[in-house]
Amino acid sequence: MADRLLSIGECMVELMQAEGDLLRKGYAGDTFNTAYYARIFLPQDWSVDYLTAVGNDTVSDDMLAFIESTGVGTSHIRRVEGRSPGLYMIHLKDGERSFSYWRSVSAAKTLADDADHLRAAIEASGIIVFSGITLAILAPPAIETLLSELRRAKAAGKTVVFDPNIRPRLWDDKATMRDTITAGARAASLVMPSFDDEATHFGDADVAATISRYRSLGVDNVVVKDGAAGVTLAFGNAAPEFVESAKVDRIVDTTSAGDSFNGAFIAHHAVNGDAQSAARFAAATAATVIQHHGALVAKDKLEPLQ
Ligand code: ADP
Repeated sequence: MADRLLSIGECMVELMQAEGDLLRKGYAGDTFNTAYYARIFLPQDWSVDYLTAVGNDTVSDDMLAFIESTGVGTSHIRRVEGRSPGLYMIHLKDGERSFSYWRSVSAAKTLADDADHLRAAIEASGIIVFSGITLAILAPPAIETLLSELRRAKAAGKTVVFDPNIRPRLWDDKATMRDTITAGARAASLVMPSFDDEATHFGDADVAATISRYRSLGVDNVVVKDGAAGVTLAFGNAAPEFVESAKVDRIVDTTSAGDSFNGAFIAHHAVNGDAQSAARFAAATAATVIQHHGALVAKDKLEPLQ
């Protein structure tokens, strides 16, 4: 049955080194990337929307036009007077990438300031996606507004998907980071962490430890991504199942591996209802994405969902 997917977070302006001193402008952000891939794979009678806040300057207009051009809806994106989108720059030096960010006053920080707006958008959707980065950019009252709406959605039986996407530099301190990520997971029905991050920041000894920690928080479904090593699925009370990663001959750019996996998994699972085949499809998608440059790989380079 067709439904609506809503992804909530921050899309930023991306500046990437082009020839010489020239910079190429793009737009990306974990939750937007996931929406982009979900839009590609979900049937046309589904709608996929992004919820964030932007300013009313030209770059905000351009970002909205770009989001619309991908087929992702912008009707839940609020305009905030006097703010602008966050921005980051990718530096390439000797094949190594490093990043600089200008996002401390980005418009997206206000995405949960209007609780009625947030509630209406969430109530209109069957699947809601957010991440640890969504939480990291918000002030404590806004985190509570967002999480209370998501808890309500979960209690109403909606699919609430959370990727912890742990980025310590976005948080003031590690205890707050762990507590807020944990609160985010409690509000979700499907958590999709990357094992590396969980081991580093929660001290999980193995994938089984990550699964049991999230299950103990009342999360019904957990998908633990572990790069080339594969994914482990723990759905409902069933025993965990392992699904291998797809073979990759040459990695070109790992940006968006996890985001594209999430978008493909959510779309496939929504349509077919089977976690194993969704994970195989998502692994194939992520493998294609990391063999191309950039976060948003064009639709014609991806195998469609059958
Ligand atoms: P993140 O990008 O969020 O850190 P991972 O590194 O775990 O997430 O990668 C997400 C998914 O991308 C994996 O589950 C896997 O399907 C795919 N992937 C990542 N790295 C590789 C690789 N080297 N070979 C094949 N697949 C990979």
